[in-house]
Amino acid sequence: MKVCVIGLDGATWDLLDPWLDDLPTIKSFADERRTELDSCIPPLSMPAWKVYSTGMNPGDLGVFTFVEPDFEDQQFKTVTNESFTTREIWDYLGEHGHQSAVINMPTTYPPRDIDGWMISGPFSGKQEDYTWPATLERTLNRNEYTILPEYYLSRDPDDIDGAVASVEKKLQTALGFTEKTDFIHMTLYLTDTVQHTEWDSPVAKAFWEEVDAKLAWFLDQLDEEWNVVLMSDHGFGYTKGRFYLNTWLEEQGYIHIDDSGFDLGDLFGVVGLDYDRALALMQKLRLSGFVLDVLPESFLRKVARQMPGNRKLEGLQDKIDWEADAVALAPLIYTRNKQIADEIRSKLLEVTDRDGKRVIEEVYYGENIYPDADVRVPDLVIKHTDYGISDIVKPGVLFEYDGNWRHHKTAHHRRNGILTARGPDVEDVSFDSPRLYDIAPTILDGFGIDIPTEMRGESTGLLGNNAQRRDVPVDRNVERVVEHDAHVEQKLKDLGYL
Ligand SMILES: [Zn+2]
Repeated sequence: MKVCVIGLDGATWDLLDPWLDDLPTIKSFADERRTELDSCIPPLSMPAWKVYSTGMNPGDLGVFTFVEPDFEDQQFKTVTNESFTTREIWDYLGEHGHQSAVINMPTTYPPRDIDGWMISGPFSGKQEDYTWPATLERTLNRNEYTILPEYYLSRDPDDIDGAVASVEKKLQTALGFTEKTDFIHMTLYLTDTVQHTEWDSPVAKAFWEEVDAKLAWFLDQLDEEWNVVLMSDHGFGYTKGRFYLNTWLEEQGYIHIDDSGFDLGDLFGVVGLDYDRALALMQKLRLSGFVLDVLPESFLRKVARQMPGNRKLEGLQDKIDWEADAVALAPLIYTRNKQIADEIRSKLLEVTDRDGKRVIEEVYYGENIYPDADVRVPDLVIKHTDYGISDIVKPGVLFEYDGNWRHHKTAHHRRNGILTARGPDVEDVSFDSPRLYDIAPTILDGFGIDIPTEMRGESTGLLGNNAQRRDVPVDRNVERVVEHDAHVEQKLKDLGYL
């Protein structure tokens, strides 16, 4: 059995369907079998990719978004690959003698030792120490491999050729592993980036056509024994604008923000960055310690031009009152007690925009959507409608309406992902509303590897029903890191360094 999963970050049929005649490769998949794939709550790339690779929900993983609040030390901590200790598809496969290559999946930095190869994806900080084994990095750098092209930060349609080239490079890299592996996972991340900024514009359509053409080339090179699964970690929908949750919470008296300083949020406001770019950038800044290492020069120039005087950068964590009734990390809200959670929830459901339309469709109780979690789960999780929910602090700004200043629509994440597959072992199943965490058990089932009882998801049978549910441990033996060190030490000894 050979399985290649191509993750098209943020892909949704809602966008692709009207374009399918111009996307012949994706259409050839969809014509055989297709379904919507329900993402996790919240539908963010972190934790969604880990939900995919572990078959667990964010509550099981203890990770709900890109950063996690540390109430004791009163700070936000960046989530990395090391925040997760649950086994992933490649760990189960490795135990059964299958080699894997994991390429460009967000949430995989720093890389860790798996039976095979790992090339970390977006949110890596710098493009350094991003491969397992470490020696792979040299080869990739020689081939001008980049985790993220300039377009990721510039969002300039003039840079889109670079984005296409980056997609092609990822596919080429994957082809290099087909002889050595039984399982390949590769995320093409730029689809997410383009959709955020361009949504259904001609630029987005042209980009998807290029992706489709590159996929056609890739499939042409791939041996026929490979089964190919196309899926996304979450879907997308257009936005009317942003709702600033912290402003609202302050207006309602639940929090107080000290805005005497100047923080990253302010900076992003100044340079016109939207929420997702800001978040991605914040990741980079936190991971690398300082701006200069990671930002393209052109972007730095832009910041330098627009950044006022000698204000210093301070994090949101220093502005909020950690003892307040609520701490928001949109779309999550942590509250001081149940009564406050109830109150905030019912008030949020009544918030309306300038047209009198409701902004928030639902506010879930964390304890209901993350049952049996053994970490502190957010008390409330917002399900938005047509507005992005921002946690950037913009005092006095409750709404921003996109239509006012952009000629085309922007978009943001929703739960409507995609799933489709083609190949010699792909079964003609009728899908029953599969969820993102069903993919890991589906793949194990295909390989005939027992599915852990603790896995939330169930096999869809897409790659066959060859396995049983058993009481298999889901936690990784993190001691393996030590083994790895011993291995490196031996290598260094052999080379005469120690
Ligand atoms: Zn994503």
